[in-house]
Amino acid sequence: MSAPTLVDFAEVVERFDPVLGLEVHVELSTNSKMFCGCSTAFGDPPNTNVCPVCLGLPGDRAPEAGAGAPKRSTPAASRRAKTASS
Ligand SMILES: [Zn+2]
Repeated sequence: MSAPTLVDFAEVVERFDPVLGLEVHVELSTNSKMFCGCSTAFGDPPNTNVCPVCLGLPGDRAPEAGAGAPKRSTPAASRRAKTASS
């Protein structure tokens, strides 16, 4: 097996249209998780604040977003979108 050949950066940019994206994770200060009522308390024993929804077990009901998280996350996402486009 031969070693891969590196292509010149300028040639890559000319041949391809690079599209970059970011995946951002944010921890909101809510008392319950996004799609169920399980607590988000830190320091509780392992596997105590879980249910079939947040474990993603197959066959459970479709998750519905809780009331607090969308209220807090939407303004944060909007501010980011405005910053990125300006
Ligand atoms: Zn849960």
